[in-house]
Amino acid sequence: MPSSSSKMKAAVLLDVEKLEFKEVDIPKVGPGEVLVKVKACGICGSDVSMYRGRYLPVKPIIPGHEFAGDVAEVGEGVKYVKPGERVVADINVSCGVCYYCKRMQKLFCPDMYQVGIHSNGAFAEYIKVPEQNIIKIPTGVSYEHAAFMEPLSCVISVVDRANVALGDVVVVIGDGPLGISAARLAKLSGASAVIVCGHHDYRLNKAKEMGADIIVNTSKEDPLEVVLSETDRRGADVVIEVVGKPTTYRWAVDMVRRGGRVALMGVPGPTDKLELMMFNDIFNKELSLNVSFAGTYDKGIRALALIGSKKFDVGKMITHRIGLENLLDGLMMVERKADNVIKVVTLPEMKGVEKLQ
Ligand SMILES: [Zn+2]
Ligand SMILES: [Zn+2]
Repeated sequence: MPSSSSKMKAAVLLDVEKLEFKEVDIPKVGPGEVLVKVKACGICGSDVSMYRGRYLPVKPIIPGHEFAGDVAEVGEGVKYVKPGERVVADINVSCGVCYYCKRMQKLFCPDMYQVGIHSNGAFAEYIKVPEQNIIKIPTGVSYEHAAFMEPLSCVISVVDRANVALGDVVVVIGDGPLGISAARLAKLSGASAVIVCGHHDYRLNKAKEMGADIIVNTSKEDPLEVVLSETDRRGADVVIEVVGKPTTYRWAVDMVRRGGRVALMGVPGPTDKLELMMFNDIFNKELSLNVSFAGTYDKGIRALALIGSKKFDVGKMITHRIGLENLLDGLMMVERKADNVIKVVTLPEMKGVEKLQ
């Protein structure tokens, strides 16, 4: 057992906007399961959505899905890791044997669930994960950097889908942590120019620091005009949409050139509608449309490789460290984009709020 006590501290979302920091049972590992002592867990925008009740029916749940830690205990039959090893995990758990799992599309497995979204997550001292999903952290990568594996794996997935090629002009719509990361990965993929559209100057500046060539504050400039003027009025080869609103989906279709590629990562609202005119544009432009909403399979180790090599510098993304007990402060900071926040990481062993940049 991890300690003599069978209790741990955790942030439990009891109901909409009711987050309580309390003592709960440490998860018990069964066969094939691994208990991880959480060392760091990032705050994602979807944690805020869960808190506000915009994302899935809320039940008592411990959120937190961007985590890294040490193996504390292994269940029967676990061979890949042993206690003390440093690990992260692919949060997408599936059966492994159904049609979709065999098609390497486990997100559509009928038994699929995401750790920290559909089951208890890592805003706690311990979390339980199936061995199948465990990934070892490379030597030299800190816990808080390794915790960025999850969001980065999602971005790798969308950049893969966008098929970014050497010399492409790539537009990223969205200046949040995922948009900034997409800009970085597009640049690493050999884009000749990366244009990031958003409406927060400090985030756009961060995108530039991470490799964007052109930044557009859409509250001051017409982003379509910027893209057209940068591409001989053709439009971009690739547009990656990381916002998820009808307006920005529309921008994506307008900004891409004929025969170009659009990759969608921004999550639309359940009742959002797009006008049919745009469908006509998609047809006439012969667009390739791709969607990605999570990073699975190889994306995790590829994300860790980029983080470990510093090709992707997570240190530039983390603006705040907070104690687990300050989770609500962190959620509010992320929601309000207060204090020039980009990424907040919770550390169970820390107290208070520390601003890093
Ligand atoms: Zn997330
Ligand atoms: Zn399955």
